Amino acid sequence: MSAIYIHIPFCKQACHYCDFHFSTSMGKKEAMVQALMDEIVLRKNELKGEVVETIYLGGGTPSVLDIGEINQLVDTVYANYRVIQNPEITLEANPDDLSKNRIVELAKSRINRLSIGVQSFFDEDLKLMNRAHNALEAEESIKDASQYFKNISIDLIYGILGMTNARWKQNIEKALSFNIPHISSYALTVEPKTALAHFIEKGVVQNVDDEVAQAHFHILSDTLADAGYTCYEISNFGRPGYFSKNNTAYWQQKMYLGIGPSAHSYDGQRRGWNIRSNPKYLRAIAKGELPMEVEVLSKTDRYNEYVMTGLRTIWGVSLEKIRGHYGDVYGQYITQQAEKHIHNHLLYWDGDTLLATRKGKFLVDGIASDLFMVNLS
Ligand code: SF4
Repeated sequence: MSAIYIHIPFCKQACHYCDFHFSTSMGKKEAMVQALMDEIVLRKNELKGEVVETIYLGGGTPSVLDIGEINQLVDTVYANYRVIQNPEITLEANPDDLSKNRIVELAKSRINRLSIGVQSFFDEDLKLMNRAHNALEAEESIKDASQYFKNISIDLIYGILGMTNARWKQNIEKALSFNIPHISSYALTVEPKTALAHFIEKGVVQNVDDEVAQAHFHILSDTLADAGYTCYEISNFGRPGYFSKNNTAYWQQKMYLGIGPSAHSYDGQRRGWNIRSNPKYLRAIAKGELPMEVEVLSKTDRYNEYVMTGLRTIWGVSLEKIRGHYGDVYGQYITQQAEKHIHNHLLYWDGDTLLATRKGKFLVDGIASDLFMVNLS
């Protein structure tokens, strides 16, 4: 089983916190769609006969494409790869692009899952983040989409400056009122060179506060657990049968093909990443070249990635898998390194599977790095 991700590198405006790759100039949108289709065809032998289980249009803002462009991209995958009978086909969409007409068009296409970039149901948060939509549009888009799609996810951001615990709880309760099966939620992080980083540096706004974010995370995970959602990865919560197949493919080290500027790929041994520039990407593809850099992962790299992603998920890190795939030395190492975190109630063993506790989840990236192996193989 494998996954295909298609990166649409355009956005209407730049959100203040965002460091994804996108351009706000739409001049080359048509040429880009053609180049994406060309790359899909160019790489058709890379999945080595694996069937495609999920197709994901992410970005950027894929909902800036018109329905014809979206269909062309998905159809090109179908024409060049083996796709399973009922694949998950997701479109990331922003609320301001989800008019009723647009939703009806999408419902008639092969898209069967919408991931809506809500981020907050409060105008003050949306303004602070420079989102292109308002709170009313966020609510309307979910209501309308729910009439045509069963499989809907929304994104919410916590730890936003000035957001109290009470307001965060209201945001979650508003999300729950729509009865959607999946929620992705992330802490606001300050990425270098973003407008947010610049404002903080100049003292225009306060820095984000880790303790606030941690409190918000616990409110989120407790409230969603009570409402029947499983936190299957620290930022992803789903009802049974609605865990994202696309995201799960990454966390379970399945093969995936990343199409488009800045998109990443993985074939089990090598990780590749496409150039993060629209003009350079377009020029390379026009010449029939792949603008991609590739790194062969060592055994240690693969162990470290497995530990990092495994600890973030409900599937945890299996000692048997570590011994089988990487050797006893790695098994002994992780058992030993995990001890102090078990003692501090941040990790625990469930049989031979190492998992993060409720308290450990929010801190899991730091804990995982302590279990990383260095300088072997
Ligand atoms: S819409 Fe999404 S990708 Fe575009 S700037 Fe905002 S957060 Fe980034």
